[in-house]
Amino acid sequence: MATERKALPVIHKTRCTGCGWCVAVCPPHVLSLDVERWKKFSRLHDEAGCTGCSKCAVKCPFDAIAMVKTA
Ligand code: SF4
Ligand code: SF4
Repeated sequence: MATERKALPVIHKTRCTGCGWCVAVCPPHVLSLDVERWKKFSRLHDEAGCTGCSKCAVKCPFDAIAMVKTA
């Protein structure tokens, strides 16, 4: 069965500051902060659980999240 989801957030690692706002605002808690080479950034750890609501992209103060259509 295809899901109803229309878009997924794509996080730009270079723009992301790891502030955590998107993690806090995500209703199903599918975003988490990750660390790579001492730099924190947000990661979508559960694509299937994302509803495509765009709240994370709207909340990000650094314009680091783009909603990309999946269908
Ligand atoms: S689009 Fe919505 S459900 Fe998906 S990661 Fe962003 S806030 Fe969470
Ligand atoms: S709100 Fe934006 S800058 Fe902050 S952790 Fe999320 S993607 Fe990164």
